[in-house]
Amino acid sequence: ATPMALMIGTGRGAQLGILIKGPEVLENTRRVDTVVLDKTGTVTTGKMALDGVLTAEGTDEEELLRLAGALENASEHPIARAIASGALVRVGDLPASEDFANIEGLGVQGTVDGHAVLVGRRALLEEWSQPLPPDLESAMAEAEGKGRTAVAVGWDGRARGVLVVADAVKPTSAEAVRRFRDLGLTPILLTGDNRTVARTVAEEVGIEEVIAEVLPEDKVDVVRRLQDGGRAVAMVGDGVNDAAALAQADLGLSMGTGTDVAIEAGDLTLVRGDLRTAADAVRLSRRTLSTIK
Ligand code: ADP
Ligand code: MG
Repeated sequence: ATPMALMIGTGRGAQLGILIKGPEVLENTRRVDTVVLDKTGTVTTGKMALDGVLTAEGTDEEELLRLAGALENASEHPIARAIASGALVRVGDLPASEDFANIEGLGVQGTVDGHAVLVGRRALLEEWSQPLPPDLESAMAEAEGKGRTAVAVGWDGRARGVLVVADAVKPTSAEAVRRFRDLGLTPILLTGDNRTVARTVAEEVGIEEVIAEVLPEDKVDVVRRLQDGGRAVAMVGDGVNDAAALAQADLGLSMGTGTDVAIEAGDLTLVRGDLRTAADAVRLSRRTLSTIK
């Protein structure tokens, strides 16, 4: 192998907005046949906005926003930011929360104004014996059917409402998926979000295979399972949740717009957070390797 050709490969990568950890990384792209794409922040912008408030009978909308907003104020999750800023706009000042806890991949819990508040997936509220009443359940399912993310809110032992946040697919994601296919890579969408939302996003960008409702610590197992099945896996992700999977993958690509932990775990960084450059990276390094031989 000529180090010169590799240097040229990495130099061209920088021009395209791809940072390559070291020339040896390019070797890993040779066998890759599958690309696992994290949904939130990778295929979608991850910039969510509060889009709807649904309350259980007898629950005041403003109180729901105040309690949920106050709790989410302590979380860095894109869903949390959307809820906290949406609540702030609608109700003004938010109280402080106490005993805040982030339950990875499920939601958040804490105390606001003396109420024990939960915000997150159905499963989180069910764990605390706060199942959604049928009207809220169907409203939540309807929002999810439209590809939105809906989270449930409960306090003091009862489900109180649903908050809908919308996250847009990046305008470049469908083109990126097409480029992956042109390179012979099978795209798979991987997410902690629910199946319906995942399916809607997948359809919008042209992905057939979806692995949804995966807990953060299980993302790495999904990659390992694919590898055990004989696939060589590239993984693209942005979040703290994705770091282990990025490290496990044969080729880890992290979004430059993502968290430092993810960037450190990846072999390549897509500086502009543009998924199309992930496909460019694979093509570039294959071409670089073929010049070397
Ligand atoms: P992804 O894999 O798509 O990046 P996560 O694993 O971070 O998603 O989260 C999975 C799900 O857990 C979210 O779709 C949401 O329902 C719930 N969740 C996680 N964090 C929060 C939060 N701070 N507030 C509300 N819901 C949350
Ligand atoms: Mg993510």
